[in-house]
Amino acid sequence: MEALDLLVVGAGPAGLSAAITARRRNKTVLVVGKEETSSKLTRAHRIENYPGLPGITGAELAARLRSHAQEAGAVFSLDEVQGITMEEGLYRAFGRKETYTARTVVLAPGASQHASIPGEEEFLGRGVSYCATCDGMIYRGRRVAVIGYLPEALAEALFLKEIGAEIVYLPQYRLPETPPGVRVIRAKPLAVLGEETVKLLRTDQGDLEVEGVFIEREALPADALLPDLALDEGFIRVDRFQRTNLPGVFAAGDCTGKPWQLARAVGEGQVAALSAVDFLAGS
Ligand SMILES: Cc1cc2nc3c(=O)[nH]c(=O)nc-3n(C[C@H](O)[C@H](O)[C@H](O)COP(=O)(O)OP(=O)(O)OC[C@H]3O[C@@H](n4cnc5c(N)ncnc54)[C@H](O)[C@@H]3O)c2cc1C
Repeated sequence: MEALDLLVVGAGPAGLSAAITARRRNKTVLVVGKEETSSKLTRAHRIENYPGLPGITGAELAARLRSHAQEAGAVFSLDEVQGITMEEGLYRAFGRKETYTARTVVLAPGASQHASIPGEEEFLGRGVSYCATCDGMIYRGRRVAVIGYLPEALAEALFLKEIGAEIVYLPQYRLPETPPGVRVIRAKPLAVLGEETVKLLRTDQGDLEVEGVFIEREALPADALLPDLALDEGFIRVDRFQRTNLPGVFAAGDCTGKPWQLARAVGEGQVAALSAVDFLAGS
């Protein structure tokens, strides 16, 4: 398949705005979104500060942004990008379902509202995972903890159970009822501990002996997507053209830092797309 002009990671306001602008400049655009649209935006009950649309609900604005991008000709994939590599001037993004190839990338995955857990980074790939589909089979017959910061995490836990892992589920949100056959512990994770690999999850309710820890939150840490990406205090470092330190990679929205506001996300998405268009013209 021919490489796309632009791959957008995240179907929130920043990503959709980038997609609309890039389509207006006649570029091929694919938006990969973990959710149909941002659950952060749809949770906004009433928005009073988005210029020109006072009182609009988050759900209404999300639907309008998405249909605008679709009508402009952006293509969508419901998938989660797990990592991106660069080879011979092309970026290859590995989703849970597919691999995507593009000449430029706009990162718009939002910001995780949850800080990483001590030990999470140290044991990444040695017991800590963000993807049950990718790593689940390794844990067949073994004990794992699944830490869910959003309701979608329960599906990951059930998948791990289905393939034969012994799971403990730690919801970090209000779980209305305990799903049958799932051991639920309402505890806050404090640290991932181990030696070569994970041995223990420390929580505020005591230690859990586990061999794996799956973590499902709104967005992966930005440098887990692209290891060479420069960050500033956990946010993607950009200049005023939304350029990151990597050629052809731009970032927009909450992932670049505060203030976490819609108008800013949309504006940054537009600038990022225009910078991608300039990059394509010069490459
Ligand atoms: C309850 C609430 C109310 C709010 N009210 C207001 C308000 O009134 N006014 C205002 O200005 N702002 C408000 N905000 C803030 C506003 O919603 C955010 O600033 C805005 O949504 C940021 O847009 P974004 O596109 O950068 O990120 P997000 O909206 O977070 O969208 C990012 C999307 O990318 C997806 N994603 C993450 N990682 C990946 C991946 N690896 N692969 C594929 N997809 C991925 C995420 O699932 C998400 O859908 C509110 C936020 C909340 C939570």
